[in-house]
Amino acid sequence: MEKLVIIGSGPAGLTAAIYAARANLNPLLLAGNLPGGLLTQTSEVENFPGFPEGVNGFELMMNMQNQAEKFGARIEINNVESVKFSDGAEQIITLEDGSTVTARAVIVATGATPRWLGLESEERLKNCGVSACATCDGAFFADMDVVVAGGGDSAMEEALFLTKFAKHVTVVHRRSELRASKIMAERALAHEKISFEWNSQIVEVLGSSEVEGIKVKDNASGAEKVIPCQGLFVALGHMPQTELFKTQLETDDNGYIRLQNNTSHTNLAGVFAAGDCADARYRQAITAAAAGCRAAIDAERYLGEAQ
Ligand code: NDP
Repeated sequence: MEKLVIIGSGPAGLTAAIYAARANLNPLLLAGNLPGGLLTQTSEVENFPGFPEGVNGFELMMNMQNQAEKFGARIEINNVESVKFSDGAEQIITLEDGSTVTARAVIVATGATPRWLGLESEERLKNCGVSACATCDGAFFADMDVVVAGGGDSAMEEALFLTKFAKHVTVVHRRSELRASKIMAERALAHEKISFEWNSQIVEVLGSSEVEGIKVKDNASGAEKVIPCQGLFVALGHMPQTELFKTQLETDDNGYIRLQNNTSHTNLAGVFAAGDCADARYRQAITAAAAGCRAAIDAERYLGEAQ
C-alpha cells in the first residue's frame, strides 16, 4: 500500500509532492492527461514570486516537476477512473488502465477546467476555430479577426496575447463592466487592436466546417447581429474538476471541495484537498502551490498520528 497518493499535477499537486518527498513519504503523483496542469497552456506568468521578468508557464511547471522528482516523488501519467474513499482507513483509487492503487492518505489536487458557452455550434467547431487556449492556438490566426468571450482576467489575457497575431480582437462581454483586475482591464481597453461588444451574449458560432463568425444578442434590446471572425476564444473562467469525488467528498454548490476549519482536511480522515478544486476564491498558481504545501504537511501529520 502507498503511504500517500497525490491526484493532479498542477502547482498544488507538485508542491505537495515536493514537500511530501522531502518528508520521506515517498509520494506517488498521478498526473492526468495534462501533466503540469493548466499553467502549461498559459504564456508568461508574471505574478509568481521569484521571477521578476516573468516565467513561461510550461517551464515553471516542468521545474516544479523536476524538483519533486529530485526528492524522490514518483510521477505517473495515468487518469483516475474512480475512487473509493473511506474515513480514516484504506483509500482505493482505480486507474483508467484498470489497475488499482491503495493508499493510507490521498491529496486531491485536480484543479479546474475551462467553462464553455454550452452551444451546440461551439462544440461542433471546437478545434476548427473554437478554442479555450490562445497560447496553444493563437498563432493559427495570423492576420485574422478573432473574438474573445468573457470579461475576467483570463479573457483580457487571451485578448492581449492574441493581438500579437490577429488583425483585430473583439471582446464580447455579457455586462457593461469588466470583472478583470484594473491593470489587465486598462491594458486591454487601451489596446488599439482590441474593441469591446458590451452587454452581449454569443448565441451561435457560425460556419459549417470552420468558424466564419459569431451571432451575438444585445442583452438589453434583444437585437441580434453577426460579427465576422475566423476564431473564437472562450475565456469564461473555470469549473472545479471534482466530478469523481462528489458523492464521497463534501462540496459546495459549485462543486468546490469543502475544507475543514481552514485546513486541507476534507470531511474524510486521510483525504486532503488542495488548489483550484477546493478554492473558488483565489485560484492563483501561488495560492494553489501554498495549498499543496499545507496538504502535504497535514498528510504528514495524519500519517504520523495514524502509525
Ligand atoms: P472569472 O470567473 O474571473 O471571469 C469569468 C468571466 O466570464 C466573467 O466576466 C463572466 O461574466 C464571464 N462568464 C462566465 N460564464 C459566462 C457565460 N455562460 N456566458 C457569458 N459570460 C460568462 O474567471 P477568470 O478565469 O477570468 O479568472 C479567474 C481567476 O484567475 C481570477 O481571480 C483572476 O484574477 C485570475 N487570473 C489571473 C490572471 C493574471 O493575473 N495574469 C490571468 C487569468 C486569471 P460576469 O463578469 O458577468 O460574471
